Amino acid sequence: MSAPPSAAIGVLALQGDTAEHLRVLRGIGATAVPVTRPGELDQVQGLVLPGGESTAMAKLAERYELLEPLRKRVRAGMPAYGTCAGMILLADRIVDGARDQRTVGGIDMTVRRNAFGRQSESFETGVEIEGLEGGPVDAVFIRAPWVESTGPGVQVLGQTAEGGAAGRIVAVRQGSLLATSFHPELTGDARIHRLFVDIVKGTA
Ligand code: GLN
Repeated sequence: MSAPPSAAIGVLALQGDTAEHLRVLRGIGATAVPVTRPGELDQVQGLVLPGGESTAMAKLAERYELLEPLRKRVRAGMPAYGTCAGMILLADRIVDGARDQRTVGGIDMTVRRNAFGRQSESFETGVEIEGLEGGPVDAVFIRAPWVESTGPGVQVLGQTAEGGAAGRIVAVRQGSLLATSFHPELTGDARIHRLFVDIVKGTA
């Protein structure tokens, strides 16, 4: 398959905040398209897995016959960026998942689902991200997971700095796979999306 002229970035559009990711990506000049079907996945050079509900997304991905193609593309090296539920989907291992909860996998990490507590315990804080200039990222956590442990190939990019859950890993990168516990698509700070676009272009 020959690549389209400008690398298209897909946003998984099964459930969750797909529209916000599309808006941020388009806002920084990327070609961004929703992905629901395997044929659409074939057309993109990178994929964002949005926040939402990881169990629902995994079930829908199975129903749309997208789970295996997703695994194959990620295993074959397609860049992917998961936020919150999307981070859970990119994890090789989950703690406190639903029974038989499946993931796409790809990042050698264990992620604890709903680790920061319930919806009512959602919070916003600054998180310093390694390699990003311009100060901490304004990070919104909504029933967010944290990364409990990482394998040797995983680079920790950010940890929580304050509150009762300080020092938790909330941003990681493994090669061309990126994941954050929080939702940069909700705050108007496009630096992490820019980093992902650069990863897709092969320049980061
Ligand atoms: N708790 C959700 C899950 O397990 C994730 C929440 C989110 O994406 N904001 O999928």
